[in-house]
Amino acid sequence: MTTALASAAPIALQLIDVPTPYLVTDLTVVAGRYVQFLCAMPGVRVHYAMKCNSSPEILRTLAAAGSAFEISSIAELRMLQVHGVDPADVLYSHPIKAPGMIAAAWKAGVRRFGFDSPGELAKIAENAPDSAVYVRLRVDDTTSVFPAGNTFGTDNDEAYDLMLLARRMGLQPYGVTFHVGSQCQSTGAWRSAIRQAGELMDRLRDEGIELEMLDLGGGFPAHYVAGDPSIEQLGQVVAEEIALLPYRPALVTAEPGRFLVAEASVLAAKVIGRELRGEEHWLYLEVGAYHGLMESLQSPGGWDYPMSSSLPDHDAQPTLPFTIAGPSGHATDVVGYAIPLPAGLTVGDVLYFGSAGAYTLAYASNFNGFAPPTPVFVGG
Ligand SMILES: *Cc1c(COP(=O)(O)O)cnc(C)c1O
Repeated sequence: MTTALASAAPIALQLIDVPTPYLVTDLTVVAGRYVQFLCAMPGVRVHYAMKCNSSPEILRTLAAAGSAFEISSIAELRMLQVHGVDPADVLYSHPIKAPGMIAAAWKAGVRRFGFDSPGELAKIAENAPDSAVYVRLRVDDTTSVFPAGNTFGTDNDEAYDLMLLARRMGLQPYGVTFHVGSQCQSTGAWRSAIRQAGELMDRLRDEGIELEMLDLGGGFPAHYVAGDPSIEQLGQVVAEEIALLPYRPALVTAEPGRFLVAEASVLAAKVIGRELRGEEHWLYLEVGAYHGLMESLQSPGGWDYPMSSSLPDHDAQPTLPFTIAGPSGHATDVVGYAIPLPAGLTVGDVLYFGSAGAYTLAYASNFNGFAPPTPVFVGG
């Protein structure tokens, strides 16, 4: 398990002189993942989906490396502008946007907007005249740990109609996108999604519409405990499918979030209570669902963080299955069941969660008066 943690983030944790809880991020890992992504997907651009971790240090690192960005709100755009990111290079992919946010983004220079419905097209036409729009397809997301679900995306027939409607509204029918769901575990999801996009491209071409952008969305898996398709395997599939498209759009891009940042961070949280309730061993930590570990509540399969602890003999100790709860008094703040951890863990010991860079701090609140982990940055 130490190996998993070390490979998740090569950080000398014992050198970090910050009180727990903290989230330490190695920025050289972030920059490295960006390069790895580009190498695995030649010719594909990156628009980092900043919602999964919008720390200024991460935005700065990725901007300096040459990444572009994908946003969901005007506040995210403002955070990028601080780092000199050109709004013209930003994708505003969220398919349902407040009219005022569309207008503000357009005023700032954003020209590309995602949509999946006639209502959204009307809002874009009114608040961002002449802009370029890209339609979001609903694709098979059943092989993702966090499926995108039914909330967004439309089928090919409606997407076709909507793109023609966009043209009639004076907008530029610019591209197609999809999102296979976060931490997607099968290469087949991208294969069929790109084919679905290709079918739409084919039909639109008969109407004289050639798309300028294919956006592969996010969902590229990071490494936790489980083995996933590697980014190189995914790149192979993406290359094969792009070669089969009716034509290659001028811009092929992707919106990785988790892949770029998850493995760069380790979350450290102290044990504040250990109790036996019936037969069940409980550990209470200073970090729970509301302070950074929200994803363990959201994923049906539960816990997958590579774990370590401050115990010098962490790997040698016999383990017990622990139920893990956060610090708050709320009954929903139980984030893990039957997690095998050293039997000797006690109050004051520190647990380390590897691969904790995505969807942790971004979700953290001060719920119940407990502060989120302190962000710490090394490298870069
Ligand atoms: C959340 C999101 C992403 C990023 O997903 P990851 O699983 O973190 O890669 C990309 N595109 C859209 C539209 C999203 O909503």
